[in-house]
Amino acid sequence: MEELGSWKRTCYCTEVGKQDLGKEVYLMGWVNSYRDHGGVIFIDLRDRTGLIQVVFNPVFAGTAHDKANMLRNEWVIAVQGEVRARPQDMINTKLPTGGIEVWVKELRILNRSLAVPFAIEDEIKINEELRLTYRYLDLRRPEMQKKIITRHRVVKLIRDYFDQHGFYEIETPFLTKSTPEGARDYLVPSRLNPGKFYALPQSPQLFKQLLMVAGYDRYFQVVRCMRDEDLRADRQPEFTQLDVEMSFPRPEDIYELMEEMLAKVWKEIMGLEIPRPFPKMTWDEAMDKYGCDRPDTRYGLLLKNLSDIFPNTEYRFFKQAISEGGIIKGLNAPGCASWSRKDTDDLTYALKAYGAKGLTVIRYQEEGLAGPVAKYLNADEQKLMIERLDAKVGDVMMLMGDKVSVTNEAMNQLRQMIAKKMKLVPENKFNFLWVTDFPLVEWSETDKRWKSTHHPFTSPRPEDLEKLESEPGSVKAVAYDVVLNGVEIGGGSIRIHRPEIQERVFHMLGISDEEAKIKFGFLLDAFRFGAPPHGGIALGIDRLMQILAGGNSIRDCIAFPKTQAGSDLMVNAPNEVSEDQLKELHLKIIKEDLS
Ligand code: ASP
Repeated sequence: MEELGSWKRTCYCTEVGKQDLGKEVYLMGWVNSYRDHGGVIFIDLRDRTGLIQVVFNPVFAGTAHDKANMLRNEWVIAVQGEVRARPQDMINTKLPTGGIEVWVKELRILNRSLAVPFAIEDEIKINEELRLTYRYLDLRRPEMQKKIITRHRVVKLIRDYFDQHGFYEIETPFLTKSTPEGARDYLVPSRLNPGKFYALPQSPQLFKQLLMVAGYDRYFQVVRCMRDEDLRADRQPEFTQLDVEMSFPRPEDIYELMEEMLAKVWKEIMGLEIPRPFPKMTWDEAMDKYGCDRPDTRYGLLLKNLSDIFPNTEYRFFKQAISEGGIIKGLNAPGCASWSRKDTDDLTYALKAYGAKGLTVIRYQEEGLAGPVAKYLNADEQKLMIERLDAKVGDVMMLMGDKVSVTNEAMNQLRQMIAKKMKLVPENKFNFLWVTDFPLVEWSETDKRWKSTHHPFTSPRPEDLEKLESEPGSVKAVAYDVVLNGVEIGGGSIRIHRPEIQERVFHMLGISDEEAKIKFGFLLDAFRFGAPPHGGIALGIDRLMQILAGGNSIRDCIAFPKTQAGSDLMVNAPNEVSEDQLKELHLKIIKEDLS
């Protein structure tokens, strides 16, 4: 092996061009491939910008040629050589540097490499575990480098944007106290305070609010948040969020701020114009038409509430749904009457995972309505249903009656499945949407109490304040989510800034004065010292990057992600710690019998 010595890189591989013909260059990087053509050795040298061909001609390169014989893929080298035009018949139009090559005079071999476990190229078919175990090799692949570098660009753009809009980036603590965002905390034992724990932040929510009380007026941070949730596909235990807070804002100010920023990102990264303002939809409307609070508006297949059509129905399932306070919803799949029984059975089966007991499928054929259920529906019901769903001959109507939550969720899933099956989801279309007026709280059947839809610091709509104690379920929040193509990419709210309202909300959530004092006493105190009205939002950067990259996996947009089981396969975390470490932290591990 040799040292770099006094060699200084002239430029990156792909920066060498026609303008350099005849010039001497120093290039450094990895051996991407090696070919020996009758004694002349050709190497594709790779750095983070791409490839360039370097040539070891025995006549020209002398001893460098002899050394080049030893090279293997992924060895690290530096070359000194002359830029030459390639012979006409050797031009590679696929490479940006395909018209030139570097004739090496001197070679320095800086390091070798073992045979790599997978090729450093884009088209690889290997399992993700191997990629994650050798993440530093995976990250060498051009497609991964592109994603990680694009992420840098996006974050830089965001930082510049907020700076230009008068926002300060202020860091908030990682070792802190629980802020409820609806997930479990990651805890860190305190060595200096036996038996006590820090919580890693689920978000900087309370700190950013306190920065408003402190008069900073406009705050943002690109910040890591940690939530100990059961990891669904594409969730990461630690993720990055763009966190924003403003004093004296109207929701419209936050919409405008974020819309302009997102439009800028799309323009600069994708070269696309995003129409503004983004459309807005209330939560009620989203649930009614789409059965979910993050609708994908790129295609139709809207849900229709049909409950009023079937008050006296003979059809057992609908009758039962209505008598139990549920709803009946339907959608019309145009031109799908020809779907086979198997097609619709597959859908019904898939919906079981979402709690659906069944799906009523009615084909609208030339001869009338077909399907086992049609005969239970009287003429009026049939007519009204067809009208409401705007069904035509050749269509198929799909209906479901169940509890409100089950019907909405299952019909939402059905709508997405049908859209995919019918290929209705356009590519390269970006539908942004604000969903507004969320319910302040939701009833938790498991805990038998009201829980915040967002978090307990969200402001109720002023006009709903009087219902806070009497009808919490009907109180709407000044809260908004920004949704893109059916994915929630961010959310926020105007906050409560008066202590008496915050206390009322805590009460309604079943948080006693004592508990509130222990957990959030500092916030209530702060609100007593001139807290301005304030509000903000947070945007998930990982998810945003995934959408921008058009990728399937959020992990591809994070340099060092965790698996679905929450492990880092490269460093092997989490891992066991020594008895000494445990002792120092005043901890004992109780081995559970998990059998
Ligand atoms: N703290 C919220 C979250 O992390 C965002 C916000 O309300 O601004 O989801």
